[in-house]
Amino acid sequence: MRYVSTRGQSPALSFEEAMLTGLARDGGLYVPEEVPVMSKAEISELAGLPYEDAAFRVMRPFIGDSFSDDELAGIIARAYDSIAHAARAPLEQLAPNHFMLELFHGPTLAFKDFAMQLIGQLFQAALARRGERVTIVGATSGDTGSAAIEAFRGLDNVDVFILFPHGRVSDVQRRQMTTPVESNVHALALDGDFDDCQARLKDMFNDHAFRDEVRLAGVNSINWARVLAQVVYYFTAATSLGAPHRAVGFTVPTGNFGDIYAATIARRMGLPTDRLVIATNQNDILHRTLQSGVYETRGVAPSISPSMDIQVSSNFERILFDAYGRDAAAVSSLMDELNRTGRFKISQGALEYMRELFASGRASEAETRATIAAVHAATGQTLCPHSAVAVKVAQDHLGRVPMVTLATAHPAKFPDAVEAATGTRPQLPPHMADLFDRPERQTRVENDLAALQSLIKERLTK
Ligand SMILES: *Cc1c(COP(=O)(O)O)cnc(C)c1O
Repeated sequence: MRYVSTRGQSPALSFEEAMLTGLARDGGLYVPEEVPVMSKAEISELAGLPYEDAAFRVMRPFIGDSFSDDELAGIIARAYDSIAHAARAPLEQLAPNHFMLELFHGPTLAFKDFAMQLIGQLFQAALARRGERVTIVGATSGDTGSAAIEAFRGLDNVDVFILFPHGRVSDVQRRQMTTPVESNVHALALDGDFDDCQARLKDMFNDHAFRDEVRLAGVNSINWARVLAQVVYYFTAATSLGAPHRAVGFTVPTGNFGDIYAATIARRMGLPTDRLVIATNQNDILHRTLQSGVYETRGVAPSISPSMDIQVSSNFERILFDAYGRDAAAVSSLMDELNRTGRFKISQGALEYMRELFASGRASEAETRATIAAVHAATGQTLCPHSAVAVKVAQDHLGRVPMVTLATAHPAKFPDAVEAATGTRPQLPPHMADLFDRPERQTRVENDLAALQSLIKERLTK
């Protein structure tokens, strides 16, 4: 199995190389040359399997000979041991024909643990075998950073630097990044918003001298291995509701487009899905794009679902690549146009491809709060604001096919918004009860590439 860049100017890589590289050197994202297909019988067999076994079967064909069967099984077992629910991704019923996939039982209480715990173990195994070290730099709107620090803290072969927008993450998110004591992890509070963090990260990857000097590796959702980890729970959820013998719909609270892109991979692998519903908060560039055919950035308006406060959605490039019939030159020129002008227009054919695949909707701040309150009153279940955005949008798309809405974070990660909506303050699970007593360690940084690069070089484990 080989991976190619969406911009067509970088060499094809193996799974392991693509994982260690993150962003391609031509600025593109790696995608599999071909998506393997599972037969109906193979999909049926996933129903009722332990999550780890289903994960092995779904991911195995993408990994090629980068890892042996035994290595992969061990990696998966170690990764998901940290998820504090026997089912790992349990399904709860919300209403007739409407289900909620709970992806927040991991160590940092957000769905990103599914990908990050796996990638931590994959990096560890690959780097130990190669006798190499890397520097991981990540940008976060809150949840990626805490998940990355949790997954990589104390590992031998990596230093981790996480850029987060100063003052724009929740106290729980910040503390999950600033309280680990291991010296190989560094939380950097940047003066700017999430798009600034992401832009500086891209600049570091595009500075090839720096990239080579520190052996830069990326674990943002552009990393193919993260997308792959997320494909698994679409299969486990759908097969427990009767797939492949009937189709299932999914509504996904979307920011950087990694999670919903994983759903499109599951579909291409043969999982029968209804249209996939993109749910956005008031930062609704993806919803607007699908409606108008024009991708146009505006400023970010901070919301109560901060992990979706995004205007430049990195993984969108992967769906453009698919929608343009894997025409890397077309994708490169759209991305150039975006850099120059802040917008681009999608061709009619590509737009039709996307409208066939996706539906979309947005939830305002008021609608999000009202949904948290209404679900709490009706069922006793407490939603985090991101999950509430998705539940609101899903409610507008319910039909005859069962709908699965992804619940991407634990409500206790966003206690102020949840308490304001329900009157009850959600409690952290026991293993995190002392989070607010632990000392914090963080560095405030300017939104300046050169300053960031010298800080990183200074801090590297020698
Ligand atoms: C990251 C995140 C999202 C958005 O996921 P993408 O893959 O970036 O679209 C939604 N909800 C929560 C809680 C998140 O942490």
